[in-house]
Amino acid sequence: MIMNGEKALLDFYKETYQKEMIKVNERIYHFFSYGHSNATAIIGETSVILIDTLDCDVFAKEMLKDLQTITNKPVETIIYTHNHPDHRGGAGVFKDTVKEIIAFTPVKPMLKHYDKINDVLMQRGHDQHGYGLTDEEAICQGIGKREGKETNQGHYTFVTPTTLYEQSLSRTIDGVSLQLVRAPGETDDQIFVWLEDDQVICTGDNYYGVFPALYAIRGTQYRDLATWVETLDNILSYPSIALLPGHTKPLFSYQEIQEVVGNFKKAIEFILFETLECMNKGMTIDETVEHVQLPSQLSHLPYLKEYYGMVEWAVKSVYVGYVGWFDGNPVNLLPLYQKEYYQELKALIGEEKLLDKINQCMNNQQYQLALQLLELTDYPQLKKECLLQRAKQVTSANARHYYIARAKRL
Ligand SMILES: [Zn+2]
Repeated sequence: MIMNGEKALLDFYKETYQKEMIKVNERIYHFFSYGHSNATAIIGETSVILIDTLDCDVFAKEMLKDLQTITNKPVETIIYTHNHPDHRGGAGVFKDTVKEIIAFTPVKPMLKHYDKINDVLMQRGHDQHGYGLTDEEAICQGIGKREGKETNQGHYTFVTPTTLYEQSLSRTIDGVSLQLVRAPGETDDQIFVWLEDDQVICTGDNYYGVFPALYAIRGTQYRDLATWVETLDNILSYPSIALLPGHTKPLFSYQEIQEVVGNFKKAIEFILFETLECMNKGMTIDETVEHVQLPSQLSHLPYLKEYYGMVEWAVKSVYVGYVGWFDGNPVNLLPLYQKEYYQELKALIGEEKLLDKINQCMNNQQYQLALQLLELTDYPQLKKECLLQRAKQVTSANARHYYIARAKRL
């Protein structure tokens, strides 16, 4: 466990997210860290094609202003790499000039009735993303700086797609030939855009330079790791000399792309296969988590650091994704309700001894153990303190935000 996760995340944020308009070639400009996400502009014969639109109107306006120092051509086409709001929120800024907005349908439909759990999903998403936290508390969102709606009085300005595709296809738009390739992974509707004449690939959120959210703690359906790996293989099969991701820094040169995306893929594949192997040996979910760690040649890579997703969450997600909640241990078939079990434990230990141990843990910075012991009893102030201290230990922005958000609500 890294004890000073807060410092690591802060250093990473300061080093990484410096806004920059990057000229990729004569007609392609990458807007890096203009928003929480990145966007790419391709200048066609008479107009501009925009791949993603940043997260909000304020950032999209800054992008448009800088784009207009390069070209007077209007943005007439928008392509969404996927449906997440942080890539679509700036679209409204272009609504006066845009003529076509292209998106893809999901490969397979979501489970029905997700709307019935909308309240809790909103709450968890709010807490994961650090909405409502101060800049100091939140630091960043791991894969990017904070969203403009949280920091710059920005707003989501969504515009509905005009063209919805189901299958990969090639198109020439305003003299630019593009391949729009289905790429399920982080989401089911994800695509990448291949610009053959430029040898440039825009990959949305299937690659970014931190350990990925193979599971999102806000609560999502199982993200199929095997499919994500296939998509990364597909991305690697293109002779790209520039890879422009939806978050974090772009990659330049064929060699760098092969190495970085290759290792990113290896990490996902490693977690999938190791988890399945542990499961096949009859390990419980807890034993599997303890066993599956990235080998150091991968975990030490700067672009696989756990500033966003975490290995442990991914392992659990694979486990549950393949066999459901039952881990094979008969004790867990029909356990006592947690409340009842904790009461028994507390009676055995005694209040005084329990509280002594909790205080001792806090003095030794064993905040996780303290939190778990606190589940046996009821000291909201101590719990709050432990959650706030635990937040400082983790590198993952998502975990940090969640601890702090829940502490503030106690
Ligand atoms: Zn994104």
